[in-house]
Amino acid sequence: MANKTSDTMDKLVSLCKRRGFIFQSSEIYGGINSCYDYGPMGVELKKNIKDLWWKSMVYERDDIEGLDASILMHPTVWKASGHVDGFTDPMLDCRETKSRYREDQLLVYVPLSGEGLLYAFPEGYPERIEKKLRKAKVDTTEYQIQPLTEIDKSLYSRLVGPDTDEPGTLTEPRMFNLMFKTFMGPVEADANIVYLRPETAQGIYVNFHNVREAGRQKVPFGIAQIGKAFRNEITPGNFIFRMREFEQMEMQFFVRPGSDEDWFDYWKEQRLKWYERAGIKSENLRFSEHGPGELAHYAKAAFDIQYQFPFGWSELEGIHNRTDYDLGRHEEFSKKNLKYFDQDSQEKYIPYVVETSTGVDRQVLVSIADAYEEEEERVVLRFNPAVAPMKAAILPLVKKDGLAEVAQNIVGKLRKQFRVFYDESGAVGRRYRRQDEIGTPYCFTIDYETKENNTVTVRDRDSMAQERISQDRIMDYLVDRVL
Ligand code: ATP
Repeated sequence: MANKTSDTMDKLVSLCKRRGFIFQSSEIYGGINSCYDYGPMGVELKKNIKDLWWKSMVYERDDIEGLDASILMHPTVWKASGHVDGFTDPMLDCRETKSRYREDQLLVYVPLSGEGLLYAFPEGYPERIEKKLRKAKVDTTEYQIQPLTEIDKSLYSRLVGPDTDEPGTLTEPRMFNLMFKTFMGPVEADANIVYLRPETAQGIYVNFHNVREAGRQKVPFGIAQIGKAFRNEITPGNFIFRMREFEQMEMQFFVRPGSDEDWFDYWKEQRLKWYERAGIKSENLRFSEHGPGELAHYAKAAFDIQYQFPFGWSELEGIHNRTDYDLGRHEEFSKKNLKYFDQDSQEKYIPYVVETSTGVDRQVLVSIADAYEEEEERVVLRFNPAVAPMKAAILPLVKKDGLAEVAQNIVGKLRKQFRVFYDESGAVGRRYRRQDEIGTPYCFTIDYETKENNTVTVRDRDSMAQERISQDRIMDYLVDRVL
């Protein structure tokens, strides 16, 4: 197996395009930054990931209900949630290159002597900065690295931006609201401003009592939702890792105050187990705790589940103890009673919320990156069969002599339950390779022996081993292995 190197991302992006997983949005017009379209394979993979999450959250439990709230909400929701005032990132621009950076994502080489130029660079790009420093004949042993947030603004005149060689081109950081605004109705006036939701969670909070009553639930219980969210990210990038339009899978679990810490630990454990089930390698996952300085204003505790992406460890999911902040704020702003009356204890309280929140697109990227392997003779995506876009390929050895008809007959039966691929063109070896590249776990080949004794060859994607099984067993074979 080849080493995963820094060009892995380029290879993944190109495979995704070639095999119909992910395309740049509006490509024929030159594309639009940080928006992507899912092609025939991508849409299946994404759907399977969502189904697996939904199954574990909603189908397999009694204490979580589903919801699909609208993207446009009453604008006061976003005042109550703190997004109108607080959903901002400090960002700075380079006057020369017009690049834009998030202040908290830049690091700086600062000369120990206190004299000379300072060099800013984005986290995760040491190679590029090292090249630049060599060119400028900078001896890095005489520098220390500090976050830009700690650099005094008076030093900006000596600061060289990440994409230039001259100092003084970076502006001071300015606050930038990440919400997309639009107008509801024909009049473009302030009174008609609405926002594209930057997270799905608020749709859950404002429906807390609706869902609780309709679902006849008692605290503790949860509400799960999958849906689009929009953020005007300052520095989108790394393919589908940071997009401006993306999809979230969020589950908000409402609990009695005082039991929140136990539930928080419970959900941390559950979520890690889910990744195991989704087939993600455990050595590529880790928890990272938010320190006191990093905690969001509403959170009592927060852990990220990070994944070791080809560009480094980064957030995949957030697990947050949001306290009674959200429901409390909605009670204050809506003037509606959002308290819960606990019949068992006769107490009235605003429930605490333990949230698990992850991005579907990041899950897609993780699934592909984790499954990707280069072998001597092939590239293979070793997807967990549950998320693989195609569950099986049905391949007649040749089209003639009735083999194609037998194969089509099998396809017709399997299609009632599984997404399967029919391919009758080219050498069988080449057809196997094509399936390997989209991660199809099993290939069934129909040959002359099939006509004699009703058996087919099944080839396993991972081991490439082949065995013969009876044609009548194909359905059960798949049911046992890919669901
Ligand atoms: P980051 O620090 O990376 O901006 P965040 O802490 O703001 O992320 P949350 O608000 O906790 O993220 O969102 C929950 C999840 O939604 C993230 O863990 C991530 O999987 C996903 N997500 C957030 N922003 C984006 C985005 N711009 N593109 C794709 N997925 C995203």
